Amino acid sequence: MQAVLVSHNRKKIAELRAILAEAAPELTLLSAGEAGLPDDIPEDGDTFAANALIKARAAAALGYIGIADDSGLVVDALGGAPGVYSARYAGEHGDDAANNAKLLAELAARPNEPRTAAFVCAMACVFPDGESFTCEGRCPGEILTDYRGEGGFGYDPLFLYVPAGRSFAELDGEEKNRISHRARALAAFAPELAARMAARGN
Ligand code: IMP
Repeated sequence: MQAVLVSHNRKKIAELRAILAEAAPELTLLSAGEAGLPDDIPEDGDTFAANALIKARAAAALGYIGIADDSGLVVDALGGAPGVYSARYAGEHGDDAANNAKLLAELAARPNEPRTAAFVCAMACVFPDGESFTCEGRCPGEILTDYRGEGGFGYDPLFLYVPAGRSFAELDGEEKNRISHRARALAAFAPELAARMAARGN
């Protein structure tokens, strides 16, 4: 069965592939590029789930099982920002350094506020006939006052995973894949996908 993982972010595709390979080994996963999807699908939903559904629908329209995630960082002291704007918090899409600098500056301006936050991931699946579902996963943590670690991407160097006492950028890939917001969303998503596929006779 062919499914398309609607993403062009190579590090994220690798993370998702590693998790889905265990959870749904019968699925062949293509990237958005391999399926010929454009890289400019507008993500203009106001929730993570809405954005994931927009991307998954684009693959379903080509006849694939469309699978997509949308994720970001939700910071309590910032009223949930950067939220769905996580990738372009500082203006330009995907400028991690600028996004992280803005996050530090916004929290430095609120010295008495808690630094609690969560990475949130919504996963969406859309079948070619339009049947769809979404699942959400959250990983709570705290925003550090300085960068720690070299791994990962995005806000990882500023996100303290409290149970390990390390930032996401200090965890190795396997460790992050076990506890991340994507892992948690996928833990709910994978059995639901399997159940839906069985019910549909896929
Ligand atoms: P999207 O799901 O590709 O739209 O991701 C939005 C943004 O959220 C990314 O560009 C990152 O800034 C941030 N983000 C999502 N997941 C992670 C993660 O696991 N680590 C660090 N940043 C993340």
